[in-house]
Amino acid sequence: MEVVLNVLSLLFIFMIVRSVFRLFELSRIKKATQAREEELKQIKIEEPAEKEVAEKEVVEMVQDNICGCAIPRNKAYILSKDDKEHYFCSWDCRQKFIDSYQA
Ligand SMILES: [Zn+2]
Repeated sequence: MEVVLNVLSLLFIFMIVRSVFRLFELSRIKKATQAREEELKQIKIEEPAEKEVAEKEVVEMVQDNICGCAIPRNKAYILSKDDKEHYFCSWDCRQKFIDSYQA
């Protein structure tokens, strides 16, 4: 009889310990899920910034008719002549263009 009681009490203790472990495991999973949600939120916040960068990278390219190189429009030297815009990679190319017109 005593042996049976011992086994029962052991089983009882085992079940309690197991349920406590389960609770720990559950809270651990909950924390991991929260951390993951937080990460996802941060990724969502970062998304528009990445899009802005991508939009900035798609800059209109223009051609320098003096040396023939392509330059982003926002970095080109622009000269308006006869209602037309001329783009140059450098001040030198712009000057060459003016000189060729004056010659
Ligand atoms: Zn040039």
